[in-house]
Parts: sequence; structure tokens; C-alpha cells
Amino acid sequence: MSTRLYLGGPVLLVGAGGIGSEVSHSLLEVFEGALTILDADTIELSNLNRQAFFEEKDIGGGKAEVLAREIEKRSENRIAAAWKRKDVRDNEFTPGFFRQFACVISCVDNVESREHINAMCVLAGVPNIESGSSGYLGQVCPIVPGVTECYVCSAPPAEEQHPVCTIRGVPASWAHCVHWAVQEFLPQVEALLERSAGVEEGDVLEFLGKYAEKMRIDGLKKTLMQLSGKDARKLDFIQDISARRAYPHAIAVQSERETLKILEKTVPSVISSNSIIGAVVVAKLRRIREAKEQRAIYLSANSKIRAVEMLAPFGGCGVCSLSLHDLFLPETSTLWDVVKKACSSGVPEETTITKYSSSGRGSLLYDSDFTDNEKMSLSVLGIPTGTILKIYTPRSAHLVYVNIV
Ligand SMILES: [Zn+2]
Repeated sequence: MSTRLYLGGPVLLVGAGGIGSEVSHSLLEVFEGALTILDADTIELSNLNRQAFFEEKDIGGGKAEVLAREIEKRSENRIAAAWKRKDVRDNEFTPGFFRQFACVISCVDNVESREHINAMCVLAGVPNIESGSSGYLGQVCPIVPGVTECYVCSAPPAEEQHPVCTIRGVPASWAHCVHWAVQEFLPQVEALLERSAGVEEGDVLEFLGKYAEKMRIDGLKKTLMQLSGKDARKLDFIQDISARRAYPHAIAVQSERETLKILEKTVPSVISSNSIIGAVVVAKLRRIREAKEQRAIYLSANSKIRAVEMLAPFGGCGVCSLSLHDLFLPETSTLWDVVKKACSSGVPEETTITKYSSSGRGSLLYDSDFTDNEKMSLSVLGIPTGTILKIYTPRSAHLVYVNIV
């Protein structure tokens, strides 16, 4: 009999894909309480073989919504699951949003989202269990603000390989188009060829109609009519389909050589790796608020599992060295009121204010050469509760969390 896991507060699961699904399986075994699932993605055919909560009827639906519904049903409401079909990098997900959770579980598939979740959790003081996998490799890092190193302190190597989970609803790069051609389109073509020994023109037209919005289809009919299942794997066919996929999204077509490189680097998302990672995440969830020592877990290529103690925060870390102060301001406050309140011992001449962003590209609101916004109210400037402002003076840099009262 398993011991129930109750954290005393809600848990946020970011990412309802390969790892998110496996984490959910483990949560179903033991977790009790409120869970919020955040994911902007749509369920696609290629997800079904390794994301076991989704069925064919769910294709086109939101991952977060379907996963939340299934968790509630299968847990017989022991887990109260809420969901948001949004990108975690949206403005609304401020430290104020993260503060409401006892713990965050990060199962996202890109570095930008990881960095954003990391910064928000460190600023909000909320533990974050950071996870990832690529083929047979994987890791789980329990990050406790002020106690352990964070995701940026430990600076993992850049993601050189292309996990196949980069097949996106909307492609953003040539690699996404190639993955889509191989993982999403080719299996459909093969199924079409299998169904009818000699492909009828009507079948092909119906098939093409399904893809009219996803890719350029003019001239594709002839190619498909000539295809045999064996030829379908040829590089020139993949190149052709990738280019058709790239066209409506204004992505530059790259050489066959580049396509081949992408195919060689493509690693399958391995469900057994994700299962192990999912189980480790939930084991970490049990320890993260009590244990003094936290250990990261790594799956390596030879299937060995290593535990490595998490270090203390790195003093020079651009995230861990930040501190966040709450500022409470009336609705009518101007930007200048914010500066005065933040710099209580007087505002130095060389002061700069930007909107904080975890990517380091916050927009400029004020400096000694740009004073236009000084007397404008926060509402006119689009600064609601939850906005973080970074205030630099010659002596210091600090972050303030705006609370409109
Ligand atoms: Zn750090």
C-alpha cells in the first residue's frame, strides 16, 4: 500500500507532453490535492503512442485540458485538476502566479521555457523540480531557491540533438518541418497506400484536402500517385514534403545535406526513459520541502542511474543573486512614484527602469535620456499587478514586484 503524498498546497505541472504524461501516471498513484496543468500544445496523432492519456478522439484538443480531465476521472476526484492552455512565457505567469503553488514540476521541451520557469520560481521562492529527457538520457533536478543551485547556475550543455517532440503544431524552424514530414506526414501516406493497393485519384484528393492548411499541396498529387511505400522514405521525398510544410510558415528551405544532418541527430522520445523520469519526479516531490540535501538524478546512455548532490547557489548567478521586493501602490501611481518608493534614500541621476524578462530583453521604461513616461500612470503604461520592474542605479540593481492596491 502506498503512502499518500499531500504537500499542503497546490502543485503546478508545466508541460503535458512525454514526461508530463509519465509524471501524471505517478501522481495518480500517490498524490492528493490540487494540481494545475499548463500547456499550450494541441494533441496530434504522433503523440498517441507515447502519451497514454490521449486517444484518437482527443486529436485537435488541448493537452492540458484532456490530461486534467483524465486525471480527475481516474483519481476519482482525489486530485482536483485545473488547466490552462497557454504558454508559460505569457505575461500573466509572474512570480505572483507561481507563489500560489507549494511546488512546480517543469516538464517542458525547450531551454527558453526552462529558463523562464526557473527565474519565476527562484523569484517567487517556490521549489521547482526540473526534468528533461532525450533518447536514453534524462535528468531530474530538484531546485530549492536560496538552498540549491538553480537551472542557470548549473548551466547544462546546449541541446544539440533534436528530440522528436519538436514536432510542433506551428513549426518555427527547418528542423520542425523535417520532423513533421517524417513523423506526421509519412505515416499517413503509408497508411493511405496500404489501404488501397492501387491508389485512386479520389483517395488522394481527399487525403490532400486534410493537409491544405498545413502545407503547400499544389503539384503534390502527381508525386503521391507515383509513390510506392518503399520510395516514401527517400531523402528527396522528405526534402520535398519539408519544403511544402515550411512554405506557409515562411521558413527558409535548407539543403538536403542539412536535412540529412537533422535526421541523423533526431532521437526518438523513449517512453521507458520518460517513465523513469516521471517516477523520479514524484519521488523528489515527496522530499523537496523537507530534506536538507537534494540530489539530482541522471540517466546515462549505458542505462546507469547516477545521483549527484545539488550544490549551493552560485554567488554570481544572474537569477539567484536577484532579490524581489514587493511594492504596494495606489491605482493612480505614476512611474515616478514607483522610482521614489523603490529608491527610498533618493533617486540617483543615472537611474534606469525596464520591465523584467527572464530572457534579458526587458523593454525600457525610463532612463535619464528617456523621461517621457515619468508622469504617466501605471495603468496607461500597461503595468498591472504582477509586473516586475528592474531598477538600476549606479550602485545597485533590484527588482520590484508591483502590487496595485
Ligand atoms: Zn542560480
